[in-house]
Amino acid sequence: MWTGIKVIFEDLLNFFFPNLCAACCEHLVKGEDGICLGCMVTMPVTSFEKEMNNPVVKQFWGKVPISAATAYCHFSKGGRIQRMIHQLKYEGRSDVGVKLGQLCGYRLLKSPQYAAMITSFRSHCIPTNCVFVVTIKLLVLGKDWPK
Ligand SMILES: [Zn+2]
Repeated sequence: MWTGIKVIFEDLLNFFFPNLCAACCEHLVKGEDGICLGCMVTMPVTSFEKEMNNPVVKQFWGKVPISAATAYCHFSKGGRIQRMIHQLKYEGRSDVGVKLGQLCGYRLLKSPQYAAMITSFRSHCIPTNCVFVVTIKLLVLGKDWPK
């Protein structure tokens, strides 16, 4: 009986305060967090982490010495990525930053070039479970590093 009441309460709560995908504004189903499965599957991922001399690295050539750089997704004006970034920056959807950080982090951990850096960075800089979550939140929200 309590399960039925809980489901009804959750449905009512979702009716008045819908949990929407930050990219397509469709209702999220149970198990989805911030971004729906359809948007995650169709996300325009760059795969730049697999290339040493990718377009992001080339942006820095001759300006600052860097060992690696990458971008998680291609950005297009009016696209889903722009909508997600807008939700994150202006609508207070920090869950979108967390989700994008997790997705980006999983890809980088699969890349040997970045996995070593991440492991080193994680153990020396920030005592948290997911360094990318904090990094993306800090970068986008413009906050200082935690002490
Ligand atoms: Zn979506």
